[in-house]
Amino acid sequence: MSATPVLEIRNLHKAYGALEVIKGVSIAAHKGDVVSLIGSSGSGKSTILRCANLLEDSQQGDILFQGEPVKWRGHGHNRRPADGSQVLRIRTNLSMVFQQFNLWSHLTILQNVMEAPVTVLGRDKHEVEASARRYLDKVGIGDKCDAWPAQLSGGQQQRAAIARALAMEPQALLFDEPTSALDPELEQEVVKVIKDLAAEGRTMMIVTHDMKMAHDVSDHVIFLHEGLIEEEGAPEVLFGQPKSERLRGFLSSTV
Ligand code: ADP
Ligand code: MG
Repeated sequence: MSATPVLEIRNLHKAYGALEVIKGVSIAAHKGDVVSLIGSSGSGKSTILRCANLLEDSQQGDILFQGEPVKWRGHGHNRRPADGSQVLRIRTNLSMVFQQFNLWSHLTILQNVMEAPVTVLGRDKHEVEASARRYLDKVGIGDKCDAWPAQLSGGQQQRAAIARALAMEPQALLFDEPTSALDPELEQEVVKVIKDLAAEGRTMMIVTHDMKMAHDVSDHVIFLHEGLIEEEGAPEVLFGQPKSERLRGFLSSTV
């Protein structure tokens, strides 16, 4: 494990006003790692993902992308990223998939996937279109290129959102409860796509309430409690022999 992690968070602290919600969290995801974050609602899972890709400010600690620390200016509640081009590079390399898909309703599925690579990265439109079609094929909705988001099921929309994230050709994918908005039968088609991505060695951080998926796809699972890591480890150990009383309680409440 001497290689530089794709994404590393060191001693992260984050408060909303006076409310400290992340109280010193360290996480490393090496190339090909799937790291899952589990824990009760409000434990800080989404906040960690949003701080990692700089959608949220944090007050203390380091965030490193491929060994390169985020440059900050100011301190505490005034701390902000100092270098806009670094923010853009990190954000485009840590592509996020949200619970509510967040597709643009006025764009077709193909246009949704093409939008950021063309406008943000300035890539050639024809090349982007060809790769967008490949990514849509890969997630099993290659026949939906010309459909509008509202014409798709939730599972299809989430797979389109995954294709859109892949089209950025990011170094890692961040998933925030990707299956929570879906009915159980649609959930499985998204879980399958995530499993395929894990099997091809993608680096991923996944916030999920789906303990079976976390068990099946993760290399490392982190259980958060009130902004701190309560317990972490390999999935077989964390789920098979949970040590903390809180984790045992949490696991028995989620089946
Ligand atoms: P999780 O994703 O584990 O459910 P979150 O990261 O969303 O938890 O939230 C962690 C804590 O931060 C919660 O107490 C939540 O109420 C609080 N929080 C999240 N977003 C905001 C916000 N924009 N303003 C104030 N408090 C927030
Ligand atoms: Mg959340």
